[in-house]
Amino acid sequence: LTSKLPQVGTSIFTVMSQLAQQYGAINLSQGFPDFNCPPELTELVSDYLRQGFNQYAPMAGVLKLREQISSKTEKLYGFAPDPDTEITITSGATEALYAALAAILRPGDEVIILEPAYDSYVPAILLNGGQPVFVPLQVPSFAINWQLVKEAITSRTRAILLNSPHNPSGAVLSASDLLNLAELVTDTNILIISDEVYEHMVFDGQPHLSLLTKPELAARSFVISSFGKTYHATGWKVAYCVAPAALTIEFRKVHQYLTFSTVTPIQYAIADYLDNQEHYLTLPAFYQAKRDLFHQLLQSSRFTLTPSAGTYFQLVSYENITQERDQAFARRLTTEVGVAAIPISVFYHQQTDHGLLRFCFAKNEDTLRAAAEKLNRL
Ligand code: PMP
Ligand code: GLN
Repeated sequence: LTSKLPQVGTSIFTVMSQLAQQYGAINLSQGFPDFNCPPELTELVSDYLRQGFNQYAPMAGVLKLREQISSKTEKLYGFAPDPDTEITITSGATEALYAALAAILRPGDEVIILEPAYDSYVPAILLNGGQPVFVPLQVPSFAINWQLVKEAITSRTRAILLNSPHNPSGAVLSASDLLNLAELVTDTNILIISDEVYEHMVFDGQPHLSLLTKPELAARSFVISSFGKTYHATGWKVAYCVAPAALTIEFRKVHQYLTFSTVTPIQYAIADYLDNQEHYLTLPAFYQAKRDLFHQLLQSSRFTLTPSAGTYFQLVSYENITQERDQAFARRLTTEVGVAAIPISVFYHQQTDHGLLRFCFAKNEDTLRAAAEKLNRL
């Protein structure tokens, strides 16, 4: 068999988590919390399991969950998508990203992506006959250079894929980014896929600027969020996509034959739990405290940290410690120092190495303290 994805190997998240396990290192590499989801939510899931909510969910998702998402979206972003025609529940954001790309791409279509980029984007584009067009984010701010995005647009550009809050940098879109984007796509047929899985993790009192806050952008966007992030349950793989009715029709054609529907009892449980707004409204403060603690713990280390504006990731520069390549250093940090991190070069198609590592701070205080103690020895 000739591989359709010859350049794809094992994901860096799997590689680093395995290495951490093998060497007994503290795992700050793959992004997942080391604490549990809210106990009321696990109770609800087990109630629904026991009550027999164990058969196929509706293809588009449990209606009450879609209704709850609609009212949450209205409260937060001033726009209530229609639960019947504009919201689809998916098996993780990974599925939603794939379904959106599969729904819109024809062979040779170009998708602009900003690097460093989350690792599922390029394979999903390639498998659907598309061509990724790479635009680098500015280093070290990871801000978007809109002039470069403009220059990357051609007659084949089918979509722009954005991610805010941004994995791995923690950068977030600003109001002027949204204006620039709106201006760029006006009078074009370019669609937008907006990966907003960390929508409830934006810090320092800033609001999350969802594309859904701008009607002219919402009208051409697939906006994707993930309950795995919001409820500390990455293993559940329950997410959703908001898109205008015409786009949702095509999106659901793919979803219908990719997975058909998403795990049933968890959808019912989240639908009930969404009555409690407190969880997602206090999530920014919850994660900001972790970010600030991690920052403070590493203050006298030889790493250089730029506070992240969102997500549960912290980038660090290690130029004061070593000139090693980031992949070599990440490996050595895991095997010799006992803390696993993600090297950033793997998020670039040409492995651009800025000497940066990503740590995940979605961890208990004890874990962060133990990791910092090791990192401070360097
Ligand atoms: N996009 C980004 C930016 C992510 O960090 C993740 C988390 N792994 C995903 C998509 C995938 O989310 P899910 O686990 O819901 O598939
Ligand atoms: N999104 C997670 C991260 O960035 C990893 C997800 C995965 O392992 N596929 O670390």
